[in-house]
Amino acid sequence: MTYLLRVNLDINASNIGGNLRFQNTLKGIRLVSKRSNRVVILAHRGRPSGRDKKLSLKHFVSPLSKGLGKRVVFINSFDFPKIAKRIVQSPNGSVFLLENLRFLKGEFGADKSLAKSLATLGDRFINDDFPTSHHKNTSNFELPKLLPSSVGPNFKMELEKLDKVMRHPRKPIVLVIGGAKIKDKLGVVKNFLPKANSILLGGAPANTVLKARGVHIGKSLYDQGTFSQIKRFAMEEKLVTPIDWEVKKEAILDIGPETIKLYTKIIQGAGTIVWNGPMGKFEDKPFDRGTKALYRAILAQKGANILIGGGDTLAAIPLPRKLRKNLFISGGGGAMLTYLSGAKLPALEAIK
Ligand code: ADP
Ligand code: MG
Repeated sequence: MTYLLRVNLDINASNIGGNLRFQNTLKGIRLVSKRSNRVVILAHRGRPSGRDKKLSLKHFVSPLSKGLGKRVVFINSFDFPKIAKRIVQSPNGSVFLLENLRFLKGEFGADKSLAKSLATLGDRFINDDFPTSHHKNTSNFELPKLLPSSVGPNFKMELEKLDKVMRHPRKPIVLVIGGAKIKDKLGVVKNFLPKANSILLGGAPANTVLKARGVHIGKSLYDQGTFSQIKRFAMEEKLVTPIDWEVKKEAILDIGPETIKLYTKIIQGAGTIVWNGPMGKFEDKPFDRGTKALYRAILAQKGANILIGGGDTLAAIPLPRKLRKNLFISGGGGAMLTYLSGAKLPALEAIK
């Protein structure tokens, strides 16, 4: 039996070993890979257009081999008939890693012929990549329609934890949304409006709503694509925007001290806190201040249920050494928000 295992390796290559997503991915592979089967790991990194050396999955071969305690064979080509033959001829227990799927244009969107080629590589499909599940990609949306499919251990745990918090959420519910991928985020913010009590905005989502509210944002990052849609609900009172900010070269790069105070006060009254997206351009110090301050404020809420997720969000904060019962760190950002908002996850629908 050969399993095609879709995992998340959308990770900055500089600190693979210490990365929570990587640790989870490793655990998932370990649970699926047995002496009696073969595993073909399918994954992506970044949003390349065509082959891009910087986004190769080659860097993961060694940390994966080390973590699994067995050799991981890297497959660099997309010559599917050849790859299929190689896999079938390999001994049981083998683990293969296929190059970044997004080097193939067909991976974006839903390419039925690419899905057919991928399906020739194995007998069953397991999706353990929760963070990508809100995207309709070929490997997570078309492929599961062609093979017996199921969700993997990480994906399942994510759904269970998120369900548990949201079934009877402690009120008030406070959402904190920042970051850059506005399209993924502001769409679901609308779904949250009836559920959440306050939605605190930072990063590009804040800039976009500020602009929609008529504030001059200069050269700040905002989303033009969704702007007209956002204008329709930008005046909603539950959407809380920054009252001051840090600027460099006419661009808003972080929330300011008064905003930190205001947001902290709202967080202090919360029963449930959901956070995705850094409050500022945290990689560029000192614009990490807002993100760090809010993280402290959120962790200080010992009585609240806390959900934190997002690749960059997790990279921006020091993860607590000891996880608490009411604190869940999700691997997903956009996927977490989509699921919590009640919208369907295409990757999950394709398996059901
Ligand atoms: P996540 O991965 O946690 O879901 P995103 O991918 O949406 O978050 O966004 C993370 C990025 O957002 C970071 O690289 C950060 O620098 C950027 N960012 C946040 N606020 C700003 C801002 N005001 N201006 C420019 N970039 C920002
Ligand atoms: Mg990100």
